[in-house]
Parts: sequence; structure tokens; C-alpha cells
Amino acid sequence: MKEQNKIGLVAGPCSAENRMQMLETARGLKNIGVNILRAGLWKPRSRYGTFEGVGERGLVWLNEIQQELGMKVMTEVALPAHVEVAMKAGVDMVWIGARTTVNPFMMHELAEALRGFNIPVWIKNPVSPDIELWLGAVERLQHSDVQDIRVIHRGFCTIDSAPYRNAPLWECLDGFRAHFPNIPFYCDPSHIAGKRELLASVCKKALSLHVDGLFIESHCCPQKALSDSAQQLTPDGLAELLHTLNVSIEQ
Ligand code: PEP
Ligand code: MN
Repeated sequence: MKEQNKIGLVAGPCSAENRMQMLETARGLKNIGVNILRAGLWKPRSRYGTFEGVGERGLVWLNEIQQELGMKVMTEVALPAHVEVAMKAGVDMVWIGARTTVNPFMMHELAEALRGFNIPVWIKNPVSPDIELWLGAVERLQHSDVQDIRVIHRGFCTIDSAPYRNAPLWECLDGFRAHFPNIPFYCDPSHIAGKRELLASVCKKALSLHVDGLFIESHCCPQKALSDSAQQLTPDGLAELLHTLNVSIEQ
């Protein structure tokens, strides 16, 4: 649990799209005090033929951001091959997405691929509302000697999730802390809300439950984003949101 008003914060675009988008977004975020940048390189899209990410090509942009701005960078890994190239490129942290956490075989493969790399690994809840799968994903990483694990609640796919894109299940926070009291618990309001208008209320609820931080999507030009356009905020929009929430970023 954090000192009041100070929270952990990870922010960045849903997807890395091109060098200028990445640099502009990262500079804007650095300006408002963000030190950890997220960006998806390999995007698990529901429909075939939609933008599936730039892949390895984006790693050089992440390196440029590390060098120019001194930010830590993270991306989603869904296959052992992603871990291999991300680690070779010196990516600082990785996250495991909801469509991967849901599959114990994939979790096993990823956990083994991550063995021996001393980096923070963040795990989103699985798409389905099954806390056991989430706990099991943590256990599989622990079994592979991953020491620094953090979890992210991004809501669940349910038949009736309205008004959310993915329905939050706030009760899982206590359940999680009971099992893993020392694992930082973050909230991803972007994938819960699915639209900018709902972000503030989701964040307020999460903060009222004393989450350790927020994991949030931010894009220099959300209207032009190739994925998750409706839920992304500009860096200035994010600064305003933090102001409304009366919180500042833990440095
Ligand atoms: C993302 O963070 O952009 C993402 C794909 O998230 P999730 O796994 O929560 O759908
Ligand atoms: Mn996204």
C-alpha cells in the first residue's frame, strides 16, 4: 500500500506504431513525470487482418526512448520467441496479457523462457473471471524463479459487462492480497473502461481500494491510434486525470 496521494504509474500507447508516435508520446509522458513506458509490439487482436503490431521493428524505438529520456520500457510477451528478442534488445520489463494468462500451457512456456532474466514481470488477469488461473500464472512464474512479479487487474470478459468493456471484479483484490500480500496490485482502467469518459470513475474506485498503481494507455494522438483508440488519453489528458484524482506519480 502506498503513501497517500503517491501512486505507481505505467503509461504508454496500446501499440507502438511508428518512431514519431513513440517519441512524441514518450516525451509527453516524461514531461508529466512518467518513468515507465508501456507499448505493445505484438498485438493479440480478436479479428484476423486488423493491426497486429509492428513486432521486432519497434524495439529500436524503445531503445531510443531508454537512451534519450532515461525511461524504463516494457512490452507484452506472448511467446517464448518474444521474450528472446525483447531480452536481447534490453527491454526493462515485460507484461503478460489476458489472452495468455488464461492458458496454463502458455504460462508454463513463458515462465520457462523468463527463467534467469532478472526483470519485473507483470501479469494481467485472464480474460475469463477465473481467479485460480491468475493465481496459477503467478505460481508458474514463481516456480521458474521469477522474483519480481506484479499483477494488473484489467477486468473480465463477461456476457453483461456494460457499461464497461471488461467488467471489474474488485473483490479479487482482497483475494489476491490474501494469497500474495507482497505482490504489487495495479489497475488497468483503460481496458476496464474501454472509453475515455469512464476512466476517472474506474480510477477513483481502484484508488479507494488502495491499489499500488495504475497501468494506463496514453497516445500522442488517440484519434489516430491503430488499436484501442477510444480508451487512450493524450499525455496532457493523463496529467489532468491525475490532477482530478488528486494523486501524483511515485518517483
Ligand atoms: C494491452 O495492454 O494493450 C492489451 C492487449 O491488454 P489485455 O491483455 O488486457 O487485453
Ligand atoms: Mn490496448
